[in-house]
Amino acid sequence: MKLSRFNIISEIKDSDEYFILNSLYGSADVISNITYNDLLKGNSENYDFASRGYLVDPEAEKSLFRNAYLKFLDERETDEVQLFFIPGYSCNFSCSYCYQADFRIKDTGLDKDIIDAFFMHVDEDFAERRRYITLFGGEPLLPGKPHMNLIKYIIECAVGRNTDVAVVTNGYHVIDYIDIFRLARLREIQVTLDGTRVVHDRRRTLKNGKGTFDRIAEGVDMLLENNIPVNLRMVVDRDNIENLPALAQFAIDRGWTASGIFSTQLGRNYELHDCQVGREKLFSRIEMYSELYRLIKRHPHILDFHKPAFAVSRALYETGELPAPLFDACPGTKTEWAFDFTGNIYSCTATAGKKGEELGRFFPERVMYREKIEQWEERDILSIGECRECSLSLICGGGCAAVAGNRNGSTTGCPDCRPVKELLELGIATYFPEYASK
Ligand code: SF4
Ligand code: SF4
Repeated sequence: MKLSRFNIISEIKDSDEYFILNSLYGSADVISNITYNDLLKGNSENYDFASRGYLVDPEAEKSLFRNAYLKFLDERETDEVQLFFIPGYSCNFSCSYCYQADFRIKDTGLDKDIIDAFFMHVDEDFAERRRYITLFGGEPLLPGKPHMNLIKYIIECAVGRNTDVAVVTNGYHVIDYIDIFRLARLREIQVTLDGTRVVHDRRRTLKNGKGTFDRIAEGVDMLLENNIPVNLRMVVDRDNIENLPALAQFAIDRGWTASGIFSTQLGRNYELHDCQVGREKLFSRIEMYSELYRLIKRHPHILDFHKPAFAVSRALYETGELPAPLFDACPGTKTEWAFDFTGNIYSCTATAGKKGEELGRFFPERVMYREKIEQWEERDILSIGECRECSLSLICGGGCAAVAGNRNGSTTGCPDCRPVKELLELGIATYFPEYASK
């Protein structure tokens, strides 16, 4: 018997106990220092390491791994696909950190022909798949009758196909769109608030410099009143993270967190694009989560507003089980695609609008760049050398192909490493406080 390749062992933050996790076997335990040393020596006298999959027969582990991989591929075939549609790259905001600020694509002429071509493509390529459509931008909810009518037309086309719609918006014109939303099968509206009024309005202004907080907050109220699910996103960096406790309190006081259709996410502003503005303010993943850990200790009400994933820690806490092994963290071209108003097709929102990242066209004619698509499709932890040898692979899943591509020049063959072990150290201490002494 040998130690499993997929054991992840580390010390729980602010504790003298250890956790051990093995995603292939679905095992997770807290162990003492003594048990930890027994495991390293292969001494099973006091603990049955084999029954938990921590000590294994390597040949049996290989076969278990192969079967889990095949199951993962099979299940993904029937997963729901998210199809992003980008009606334009224009935006009515001038956010201090906008990654699309350097996009040069002019918004000329979204029209019904392009929308029809998009839905024809959906009908043909995704006929048998469960799918939903997400409107993305730029800002998809711009003012003005002609644009609003086109958004309405997209929603009608989706309704006609029994397809749900989600919207990613800055939230400013949500109020004006409420009648159009009532026509849709709406999955959720994602709006962004970067903090309470002063902090948000410093970062997310209209083009004329005017603040946007109050109108977005009213929009969130109105969505919830109309029973439309809201996903509130806060983009965090060094400039606004200290405002998270105040935003959490605001959402609690406003009654948002008590709603069953209100959810949240924290987004990092990250280095996907060529934006030169304020790079020194950006967090790495572990920096952001370390800050969250620190803030949650001091302001536990943050957890009423947002429960950070800390890798699989939150899932383990909420369900009592580890999620299934993750052989591929990147949904691009597998369960995610992006389509823009120029007729281009991309893997996902991270590549949408970037020159050279096109994977095909749906308008004016349909053409798919098969060789490029295959490179995306083949990327998983078995196709990346580093991931094949990595004990974290079944939780990390190889990371984001676009980030890997940005860093290394190769989208498909390079890893985008996640600090899985460090995130688990923080997450277990956050969600299982009995193991954290302070
Ligand atoms: S490339 Fe990155 S952003 Fe795009 S789908 Fe993959 S993980 Fe998501
Ligand atoms: S991306 Fe890095 S951390 Fe993730 S599985 Fe691959 S080698 Fe491991």
